[in-house]
Amino acid sequence: MTGPVLAESLAAARQRLADALSRASRPVADARLLAVSKTKPAEMIREAWHLGQRDFGENYVQEALEKQQVLADLEDIVWHFIGPLQSNKTREVAEHFAWVHSVDREKIARRLNDQRPEALPPLEVCLQVNISGEASKSGASLEALPALAEAVLALPRLRLRGLMAIPAPAEGLAAQRAPCARLRQALEALRERFPEAPLDTLSMGMSDDLEAAVLEGATLVRLGTAIFGAREPRP
Ligand SMILES: *Cc1c(COP(=O)(O)O)cnc(C)c1O
Repeated sequence: MTGPVLAESLAAARQRLADALSRASRPVADARLLAVSKTKPAEMIREAWHLGQRDFGENYVQEALEKQQVLADLEDIVWHFIGPLQSNKTREVAEHFAWVHSVDREKIARRLNDQRPEALPPLEVCLQVNISGEASKSGASLEALPALAEAVLALPRLRLRGLMAIPAPAEGLAAQRAPCARLRQALEALRERFPEAPLDTLSMGMSDDLEAAVLEGATLVRLGTAIFGAREPRP
């Protein structure tokens, strides 16, 4: 998807977010779009940047680093790492991203903290929560969250901004809202417990459940397919 087609789909995604915020009686500046560009070429990211998009989400470290090199001239681009994060990839993520949404255990947090270069601002972090309780999925359990948050808040090179989840697919607004509501409540509980922490971010809502997530307070919605079109399978 390029040229006028990308311009149209990005405009439609912005309108969809604006409509969802309006339906939720929330101000339009209350949530922003994270364009999920995994598997999509650097030139498509550049086009979206020229159309005013600044936040981009990537899932695979190697693929992201290659695109970042090609796009190094886009100074104000903001890279978010949203994929599963293994220990052996934390250095690259600490050095090359502004945000990480997928921190789900203390060991990963410590490594990111230790590896964050002094020349860069602290890494913005969301804790990923396994909100639908799927055994196969990454993310901390709701029960583990307070202790994990406390550990991350003690790390000076990380800034704990909020929570992220990828709910199990569900049909219909009510079923989609339920896990999003649980994530919102978990963030509210952390805010009460850690009132000094900059906990302002709910990273939830994808191409299929954006409206439900915005009704439940999403502040950063992660749209891939809706902006860039269907993804090719990874080789
Ligand atoms: C791929 C991905 C998305 C985007 O999903 P779409 O359904 O294409 O909008 C959002 N969040 C995460 C964590 C992803 O891996």
